[in-house]
Amino acid sequence: MTNLILFWHRRDLRISDNIGLAAANQQSAKVVGVFCLDTNILESEDIAPARITYMIGCLQELQQNYLQAGSQLVILKGEPTQEIPKLATALNVKGVFWNLDVEPYARERDRQITQALKEKGIPIQTFWDQLLHYPGEIASGANQPYTVYTPFWKNWISKPKTEPVDKFQNRESLTAAEQKIINQAGAIPLPTAKELGFGWDNELMLAPGETAALERLEEFCHEVIFSYKEKRNFPAIDGTSRLSAALKFGAIGIRTVWDATINAIAGSSSDEAQESVKTWQQELAWREFYQHAMYHFPELADGAYRKVFKSFPYDNNSEHFQAWCDGNTGYPIVDAAMRQLKSTGWMHNRCRMIVASFLTKDLLIDPKMGEKYFTQSLYDWDLSANNGGWQWSASSGMDPKPLRIFNPASQAEKFDANGEYIRKWVPELRSLPTKLLISGEIPDSQRKNLGYPLPIVEHKIQQRIFKERYNQQKLE
Ligand SMILES: Cc1cc2nc3c(=O)[nH]c(=O)nc-3n(C[C@H](O)[C@H](O)[C@H](O)COP(=O)(O)OP(=O)(O)OC[C@H]3O[C@@H](n4cnc5c(N)ncnc54)[C@H](O)[C@@H]3O)c2cc1C
Repeated sequence: MTNLILFWHRRDLRISDNIGLAAANQQSAKVVGVFCLDTNILESEDIAPARITYMIGCLQELQQNYLQAGSQLVILKGEPTQEIPKLATALNVKGVFWNLDVEPYARERDRQITQALKEKGIPIQTFWDQLLHYPGEIASGANQPYTVYTPFWKNWISKPKTEPVDKFQNRESLTAAEQKIINQAGAIPLPTAKELGFGWDNELMLAPGETAALERLEEFCHEVIFSYKEKRNFPAIDGTSRLSAALKFGAIGIRTVWDATINAIAGSSSDEAQESVKTWQQELAWREFYQHAMYHFPELADGAYRKVFKSFPYDNNSEHFQAWCDGNTGYPIVDAAMRQLKSTGWMHNRCRMIVASFLTKDLLIDPKMGEKYFTQSLYDWDLSANNGGWQWSASSGMDPKPLRIFNPASQAEKFDANGEYIRKWVPELRSLPTKLLISGEIPDSQRKNLGYPLPIVEHKIQQRIFKERYNQQKLE
């Protein structure tokens, strides 16, 4: 056995503040990284080209960082359950280390790999890295996982948080023999997203990689964070961090992010500014709440949590669904949001809630269809956050409030009062008076002239139908 440790990257595409990688670094002078392009994921239908483009960009920088540290990030492609044990065995490594994940697919994959490595006599070490508190660490008085956010948050915020860990610094280079083994074990040059079949030419909301994520955090914490509470709901404003993809792929360490919030609180110039930072901290806790929920209740990935929604009679009209996907529902705020998603791979949180409510409560379409479309579109897609967001909007999740129905016109009036967001994403309506834009009460003749569709449903009627069906379901 050599002194080499193999560190398997998954959703932790960085060398700074990486718990598992830092532990490998402490235990050996020689650490080599590996990332396996998982064909189970790449060949599934739930892939967004923007997401793969972001991921490959992160891997490019990670590869450079490994080279600069005198080591290497090996790229494999195939079934991780085959490829990782194959490489570890060929290199006769001292151990394989990785950071844990909450998702059902990842957990089953890791179980199989653990078993395969055990059979080969290769030790493994695993770590919690992507959360400030791992599942199980935040439990109710009865030692049960929380199913409601507020008590989760109270417990979560009361716990001490760990500091960022040391950046990776390899101390011993690979030998020529080890290099040869790596090449023979299936290492490939890192392909581009296009070479993998995923074309995405539009700019991403955040450039990929560790450097861009750290720069964005610094920029956000310098100014925007202090007015987050006031501005975060307005989709025309750059009032949020836009760090979601970096957090999803681990281009930034969560401890580094948390540290920045502590410094921001210390540097706040007013109580309001401090409150804003705390509001942002609460969003980070929502991210953890949904990941804990996915870990403890993996059945969430399959469908509704609440019984009343398990067999809800949705219409699932395919033409309506297509109009929603294409941003052609005739509801300006909904269409603006769906078009933003199509061209950027990202959508503002307020708009995610508006379009999800519209799909499930106005179009009476199963949230699973919307959740899937988001999976195929979002560059920051995360199973737990997306599922949590959809279940919240569809009222099918853990949150006890039963009927949250958004009125698109009142949402636009509150959050896009001057129609700036709508005008940006629905250019054919640009010339209309703001009042018409936000109320959506555009005369049919004007819609026709502008090439903008008539409303595909009527909000008032659909809202009534939804409520009737809901009340009926409750009786069954
Ligand atoms: C229907 C629906 C689907 C969603 N799908 C996803 C998804 O696939 N991936 C994703 O990261 N977020 C998802 N969200 C949550 C939220 O919309 C995004 O995290 C946010 O818009 C990302 O922008 P930001 O980084 O500027 O967020 P900020 O407002 O700056 O928040 C900071 C970070 O906190 C986390 N966060 C914020 N809000 C939430 C939330 N409600 N739930 C969980 N984490 C949150 C994210 O990691 C985010 O980057 C979804 C929300 C809804 C309603």
